[in-house]
Amino acid sequence: MQRYIDRSKEYLAKRDRYIRDVVKKWKFDTIAVHGLYSVEEAIEDYQGSTIEPIFMSTSQAYRDSDEMIAAQTYLIPTWAYSRIANPSTYYYEWTLALLDGYGFDGETTCCSTSSGMAAIMTAVQPFLVHKKHHVHEPRNFVATAQCYGGTFQHFNVRLMEERDIECRWVLDPTNLDEWASKIDENTRFLYGELPSNPQLGFFDIAAVADLAHSHNLPLICDSTVATPALLRPICHGADVVVQSVTKSMTSSGFGTCGAVIARKNLVTNIDNDDLRKDFALYIKYMPNRDYGPNLHPLQAVMTLNDLRTLRSKMDLMSRSTLTVSEFLLKHPQIESVQYLGLPNHPLHKLASKYMWLVDAEYDDLYRKPVNRYGHLMSFCIKGGSQPARKFFDGLQRIWRATDLGRIKSIATIPSISTHQQQGESGRKLANIPDNLVRLCVGAEHPDDLIADLDQALHQIKTSTSVRVPAQVG
Ligand SMILES: *Cc1c(COP(=O)(O)O)cnc(C)c1O
Repeated sequence: MQRYIDRSKEYLAKRDRYIRDVVKKWKFDTIAVHGLYSVEEAIEDYQGSTIEPIFMSTSQAYRDSDEMIAAQTYLIPTWAYSRIANPSTYYYEWTLALLDGYGFDGETTCCSTSSGMAAIMTAVQPFLVHKKHHVHEPRNFVATAQCYGGTFQHFNVRLMEERDIECRWVLDPTNLDEWASKIDENTRFLYGELPSNPQLGFFDIAAVADLAHSHNLPLICDSTVATPALLRPICHGADVVVQSVTKSMTSSGFGTCGAVIARKNLVTNIDNDDLRKDFALYIKYMPNRDYGPNLHPLQAVMTLNDLRTLRSKMDLMSRSTLTVSEFLLKHPQIESVQYLGLPNHPLHKLASKYMWLVDAEYDDLYRKPVNRYGHLMSFCIKGGSQPARKFFDGLQRIWRATDLGRIKSIATIPSISTHQQQGESGRKLANIPDNLVRLCVGAEHPDDLIADLDQALHQIKTSTSVRVPAQVG
């Protein structure tokens, strides 16, 4: 068995050197294109395939019983069984770990999951274990109320109602005192989504991370809307990042996937060395082995393909979103426009502190740091939910779907879709009015999007003038 262990030590040392001496020195775009998949590895192991291998096999075969024992006890790197690991998901995990860890001077690792919700479940469960092994142990965590509808349900129903784990909602995450007032000796972690979907909530990551750490707690961030091209919370002190990779990172819309990215040696009051030292690897090899929210290898490689151009896509779509939001701001049928890139947005200054197009200073177009605010925006239609529905139904080029982060522009009305489950009181808590339209701008030319929005807004007027007399009659 020793020869297998020795050989894999050699392999791991070589890989770590490659990461340290080569990959970590690359710019963001190069990491996004190649990750850890090298020419050498392709030729030696994968018959020269220029694209990462898609290994659909459920399991890996071993040379003999020695190698099997070493693999099953995690003494050598192995993929054993695709619920636990797989060569295709391996490349996916390393690319995401390196992108979310870009510019961070420590180490990051990643555990792939089948969806963003699986990433959230996977990231929070290990911090919620019973510490004293008695069933009525009070446990709580503190989270931003402005969050994705699925996250709200997960925390509110699955954890609070069904399992008696208290979620303490922060209503104004820019208020550090509100965060602080909700922490006590039974708190396990702080959780924040930023920018939040769809309300674009934001908070001071470094300040909240400091607060968490002063209580020996980790900060978990959902950074789906920004993607690592615009924001990398771990660089600002966060311990764990969850990503719905389904969204902008798989902009083609080919399937759901997620990721948990964590820095090594995170802060926690849970007494578990493996968990603390390498959280992502721990959840991959332990809890997720037993829960089974694994990513399909085909999906992993399709997503890798989308990820290669992430930076330039996020730049293009951010610029178009600003153009579209400036058009809407001036439109008489629009009550308000929410976009972090607009100087009149109350969180514009705070977001500008954190949201930067990665490597803009090395980009011939810019040659200096530039702020970019992503491609999620929302706006309220004058007159309430009926005109909002009329406008929505009138869209011709922009798709009506509960989706986000696509290469194609997509709009939704959150109160009847993504945030419908949480009811009126939940929506009030999260600040989602009925006339709010969420728009996620894609890569079309913004002139064509503006034309579509304009004609749909025009339909509100024409339809009411036809309807009113009929109703009176
Ligand atoms: C969509 C979304 C999720 C859930 O991701 P899935 O991949 O759909 O499971 C979580 N957080 C945010 C911010 C999202 O937009």
